[in-house]
Order: sequence, then C-alpha cells, then structure tokens
Amino acid sequence: MSVGTLPQFIDVQKWADREAVIEQIHPLRVYARLLEGAVDDEGEVTVNVRLHRDQQGLFVVEGRMATTVKLTCQRCLEPVSTDLDVGVHLWLLRSEEQADRLPDDADFLVIDENGCLDLAAALEDELILALPLVPAHEECEAFPVEPVEEAEPEAPARPNPFLVLASLKGGTEKE
Ligand SMILES: [Zn+2]
Repeated sequence: MSVGTLPQFIDVQKWADREAVIEQIHPLRVYARLLEGAVDDEGEVTVNVRLHRDQQGLFVVEGRMATTVKLTCQRCLEPVSTDLDVGVHLWLLRSEEQADRLPDDADFLVIDENGCLDLAAALEDELILALPLVPAHEECEAFPVEPVEEAEPEAPARPNPFLVLASLKGGTEKE
C-alpha cells in the first residue's frame, strides 16, 4: 500500500493491457464530492483495484474500496460513522453498443473518443453510490427506536404469573 493520489485521466487500453494495479491509501479530504453531506473530512480511503481485459477483450476495472465517512444521523442529528466497503466491477466500454455484450445488471462507463477515462472521478462515484440514502445509527441514544414502549415501563402488560399460580393453587385445594 502506498499513500498517493489516484491518476485522473488514464489511457484505458494501455492500463488494461499492462494489468495495472492500484493499491493506495488516500486522505479522505481529497474526495470532495463524497464528503458533501459529511460532518468532517478526517479519515482515509483504501483503494485496491486493477485494470484488465475480460474474456471478451473488454476493459474492466475491478477490486475494492473502503472508507468510513461521518454523516449526520437522520434520527438524532448526531454524527454517525458510516463504513463503506465497496466491491468495484466496472466495465470501461468504447461505445454504448458494447453494453449489449454485458449482463443486464452490469456497471459500465463509456470512455471518450481518445480512450481516456477520469479514473479518480469514476472510483469516487462508486463510493458515492454506496452511501446510505438515510444515514442513521443502528440504535440512537438520543431517540431510542421504540420510545413509546420505553416511556411506559409500569404499564401492566401481563398478569403477574405468581398471582395466576396462586389462584390456580387455591382452586385445586377447594376441589
Ligand atoms: Zn442517531
């Protein structure tokens, strides 16, 4: 792992043909678009991807990216650390028509006429897509998930089992 910055415009064919591997750790603050809803920019992004050609000769960037982003919990409005661990499998196509050769759910981008791609932006998009729609703590301290039940602990939900037992006992003795 090296600390670095992602290459921006890459020649996709060149990078795929030499099966370029990117193993880097970036400061989170360089991911400005990812941080738009974040409460701070402290942290790191781990990038572990490689470019290659698939069996059809199509270009692919594949691997994982991981980071933790502090977002605002939509229930209690406190910061919530949100782990992102994203599997990347993105085809880089020369034309839209090549998409016909991919599975229906395939993730792809069309590279420009010069065969170039803004790799940094493409990978940042993968993280952005993984952000939760509604960030929230699994359990909020400020507003428990079931506040109504916790607010009324004295409500007698069920008859006291010892009283029930006592009355049953009383009944058998009378017979
Ligand atoms: Zn919360």
